[in-house]
Amino acid sequence: MSAKQNLLELDREGLENFFADTLGEKRFRAHQVMKWIHHRYVTDFAQMTDLGKVLRAKLEDAAEIVVPKVQFEKPSADGTHKWLLGMDGGNAIEAVFIPDKGRGTLCVSSQVGCALNCQFCSTATQGFNRNLSTAEIIGQVWVAARHLGNVPHHQRKLTNVVMMGMGEPLANFDNVVRAMNVMRDDLGFGLANKRVTLSTAGMVPMIDKLGEVCDVSLAISLHAPNDELRSELVPLNKKYPIAELLDSAARYAMRKKGTSITFEYTLMKGVNDQPQHAKQLARLMHKFDNAVQMKDAAKVNLIPFNPFPGTRFERSPEEDIRAFQKTLQEARVLATVRRTRGDDIDAACGQLKGQVLDRTRRQAAFRKHLAEQGIGDAAA
Ligand code: SAH
Repeated sequence: MSAKQNLLELDREGLENFFADTLGEKRFRAHQVMKWIHHRYVTDFAQMTDLGKVLRAKLEDAAEIVVPKVQFEKPSADGTHKWLLGMDGGNAIEAVFIPDKGRGTLCVSSQVGCALNCQFCSTATQGFNRNLSTAEIIGQVWVAARHLGNVPHHQRKLTNVVMMGMGEPLANFDNVVRAMNVMRDDLGFGLANKRVTLSTAGMVPMIDKLGEVCDVSLAISLHAPNDELRSELVPLNKKYPIAELLDSAARYAMRKKGTSITFEYTLMKGVNDQPQHAKQLARLMHKFDNAVQMKDAAKVNLIPFNPFPGTRFERSPEEDIRAFQKTLQEARVLATVRRTRGDDIDAACGQLKGQVLDRTRRQAAFRKHLAEQGIGDAAA
């Protein structure tokens, strides 16, 4: 007999097809099962009492519901909560919950490690192992939601999801889209489109593809206002330079009236935080607004750099961060500064590293670099 189907791999459409084609059942049975899984956190078919005995036995035979294993979890003093979730072999990924006035945001990983090698990101130093499956992505939401006692539509503790954990979500397109479908489904976690945000380092063709299949909020990791600097910080820029990236972001925004795009900009001391960078960024953002033909189509989110062992970058001083924001605001560009949360548990942006069985040898190179600096292996 073939392996059992993990129902967490399927979105509503996939689950309906499974019920119809594999089990020979009515499609609406899939809806009942989704509610058991995502609204009541039940993974044992025997407890799904509104399904007949025969169907429960059939499910037992052909299907299973496997959620990621929590290896370790850690609350932060500021209410942030981090989970280390075990994947196959020795791999582990991280998810972080960040509560904030009236909202609760979960930061979700999409890959074990990351292949993009952005210079200022801790995940990059871990190298890359593989894509996460749909079950492993939506499983992060499931684990956090259960921990929080979240009841979709009634007791909302988890109000937002950001695909800003480990990995490049658009490099794992199908699994990420399927998982986001479940996040946004009333029978899943019931989140509105705009409360699910996908953040990308700029995989241009995939941004267009995303626009064809869903309507989530889009964040672009920009980090530099010109190609020379951006290519250094985000090597993917050599393939998809800023002009092409902004064009695709503009196409995404224009599909639906009133859509804005967030541009993330990590501020690193002396690297990209100078007044001329802010002015250049303001010009880019004006150009973007013009392309979309909407004021404030571009929103800038400034992220003070979060350091990690062995990095050559430093956080910009507070006054430079404020000055950068002020320059943007005076140029009438919307700019917010992201407050750092969870840094006492290494859960802040860019600090997630999990445990990656690296296939790219980048980890070995980074360990060597640490050793040369006299920083122990354990820090990696
Ligand atoms: N690969 C995706 C999603 C992961 S990163 C992307 O690039 O958008 C989520 C955000 O954190 C990105 O904007 C990323 O550039 C930023 N980030 C990475 N390392 C950081 C660090 N050390 N300090 C602050 N922000 C960082």
